[in-house]
Amino acid sequence: MNLRRLIYSSHAMPNFNYQDLKEIMDVSNKNNRLSGLTGILCYCDCMFLQVLEGNCEVVSRTYHRIATDKRHHTPTLIECVPIESRIFGNWSMHMIRLIDLNPETVKRLILQYSDTTSFKPNLMTPYQCLEFSKKVARLQLQIQKSSEEE
Ligand code: FAD
Repeated sequence: MNLRRLIYSSHAMPNFNYQDLKEIMDVSNKNNRLSGLTGILCYCDCMFLQVLEGNCEVVSRTYHRIATDKRHHTPTLIECVPIESRIFGNWSMHMIRLIDLNPETVKRLILQYSDTTSFKPNLMTPYQCLEFSKKVARLQLQIQKSSEEE
């Protein structure tokens, strides 16, 4: 089974800013599209939660490259497992800033999937991280859809 899913969390560096986020998004979309990787990157309260899906070796190589990036620190590997199919197959890397979503809904989701009121993916299980990411992705899609309808 060569298809893998890797989940990790990390802390943004103190001087991390929106421009950094945009640069990461641009390079990730370009690289991941070329190498057949898909996934989601959630950012909130100076923490990242990323899900990467793709070929086992490509996922591993990309994670090792990301882990040495100086824009964040203390990457925590949460899960790396073989999978039958992708969940985020439509996205080469979908970046979601939780601050852009409805704060009450985000708060409810954090409470649903963790034992804290703040976003601490490093303390969440693989299942919790994945379900959280799926729900957050669905939320953003809904926002996108309703803004297109307006
Ligand atoms: P180069 O761009 O040549 O950079 C060389 C080194 O400097 C690398 O170690 C790089 O990590 C680091 N670097 C690059 N720009 C900066 C900067 N502005 N400040 C400090 N250090 C810098 N890349 C992907 O391809 N796919 C992803 O899904 C992905 N997700 C990421 C998620 C997070 C949270 C972060 C922080 C980075 C992510 N990246 C991702 C970016 C990745 O770490 C590499 O920067 C990128 O892949 C380019 O790699 P490169 O070897 O061509 O490095």
